[in-house]
Amino acid sequence: MLYKIRDEITKDYDVIIIGSGLAGMTAANILGRNGHQVLLLESHNKLGGFATWFYREDRSHVFDISLHGFPVGMIKTCRKYWNKDIADSIVQLKDVRFVNPQFNVQTDFTKEHYSKVLIEQFGIPQTTVSAFFDYLASMNFYDNSQLTNRELFEKFFPGRNDVTRILMEPITYANGSTLDDPAITYGIVFSNFMSKGVYTFKGGTDYLINKMKDELLKNNVDIKLQAKVDKIIVTNHEASGVVINGKAVKSKVVLSNANIRSTVLGMVGEEHFSASFIEKTKAVRLNSSSCQVYMGLKKEASIPHIGDLIFTSTFPTYDSNRLLDLKVSSRTFSVYYPHETRPQNPEARIAIVSSTNCNYDDWKKLSAEDYEKEKQIMIEETIQGLEKFLPDIRDQLEIVEAATPLTVEKYTLHPKGSSFGTKFEGLEISMNLHKELPGLFHAGSVGIIMSGWLGAANYGAIQSNAIESYLLTKGNNHV
Ligand SMILES: Cc1cc2nc3c(=O)[nH]c(=O)nc-3n(C[C@H](O)[C@H](O)[C@H](O)COP(=O)(O)OP(=O)(O)OC[C@H]3O[C@@H](n4cnc5c(N)ncnc54)[C@H](O)[C@@H]3O)c2cc1C
Repeated sequence: MLYKIRDEITKDYDVIIIGSGLAGMTAANILGRNGHQVLLLESHNKLGGFATWFYREDRSHVFDISLHGFPVGMIKTCRKYWNKDIADSIVQLKDVRFVNPQFNVQTDFTKEHYSKVLIEQFGIPQTTVSAFFDYLASMNFYDNSQLTNRELFEKFFPGRNDVTRILMEPITYANGSTLDDPAITYGIVFSNFMSKGVYTFKGGTDYLINKMKDELLKNNVDIKLQAKVDKIIVTNHEASGVVINGKAVKSKVVLSNANIRSTVLGMVGEEHFSASFIEKTKAVRLNSSSCQVYMGLKKEASIPHIGDLIFTSTFPTYDSNRLLDLKVSSRTFSVYYPHETRPQNPEARIAIVSSTNCNYDDWKKLSAEDYEKEKQIMIEETIQGLEKFLPDIRDQLEIVEAATPLTVEKYTLHPKGSSFGTKFEGLEISMNLHKELPGLFHAGSVGIIMSGWLGAANYGAIQSNAIESYLLTKGNNHV
């Protein structure tokens, strides 16, 4: 059932899930489908977390926030943990472009085409390209390798910043990783994309999340929106429920889809964990945040096909720190051609979303006046950047709005507007949470690997398995 905002929750649950990001929703769906009593609580007024959208002008303008591209694995994940209908709506984006001072490349983002580009355009010997891909394929999460991305690229392509750029830049955009992050995180995510290219959801995020909501309700998951959890209750050193608006709701298990740091240090409290666990949690670094500019075109506007996903930069080289700079020199344009993206909505207009990774503190420290000024500068520079591809775009625009890390923080509650959860060390804290505090689990963007649409959804599935094993010890056996 879908609780109304004013409804009180009076029953107990097997599992309470805090947050309806893709990880929280996927776990809820699996557990509900397997017969457990599940309550999904979301602080926002709609499901999806970062998998979200907003409408303007009576829905004729629709803007997707994080539907830019995910790996092919999402088809299998949706078929297995959601339904065939959702999986069948996933389609490939064939036209990915890179335009920067070092190169101009058009690709379908597959291993075959990338290999061809590396060999023919970048002059890398075939044997090196094959050795690089073989090395990535052999990387194992359990290897405990200390190799960084910087060392990985120096090993195979010494001194070739341009090669590093084409291999690394899309992944930096996809999960905020830098040259100093562990190479294993890059290897897993890049290989996932390279297996068959980049995919999207035909119909848009709104269409997808509504289908997921229907499936959750069909599987008897109870949902409450605008329900911000303030506290996770601990009884006899076990998680035993949550507090919303001062009211307790009991459960055998709590799964948090909120940020791992806010879960441990905020909703539970330091006193319930060992000192060493708290020390490690405090050392977990948050990932970077995002800025976006949303541009909706007039009804009668028409543009040529300029690509689906365009990685642009005016910066001379690849530099993951410069990608975060307030003075933006690099941005990704996602172009949503309505007849392809939203065939079910004949009113939908062309939308273009520009995304940039950025630092929360750069925006947070601005005065209200400077904040507005910087937003306007970002909008103006984004339009100028787009004019290189579409010279008369300015006259075709009807709606232009921008979001900053402060917007991200407001709508998702992620500390410092972190778009991709935490750095690598967050994974250990997340995975060991239930060992520290029985009955408390975490699923959601952590450790780079578990972020993104596919990573988050799969992590939800992994944690639902762990929860079922735990519930068995508590006498729940619906499976
Ligand atoms: C600008 C941008 C672009 C992106 N582009 C892509 C892309 O192209 N491809 C891709 O694969 N990934 C992309 N991502 C990343 C991807 O969207 C996320 O990694 C993924 O959706 C995160 O899912 P999650 O399960 O971790 O939860 P989140 O999406 O983080 O959701 C967590 C939910 O928990 C709720 N919550 C938090 N605290 C509480 C509380 N106390 N009580 C109740 N509810 C609470 C929040 O409101 C939120 O709804 C992008 C992200 C951003 C920001």
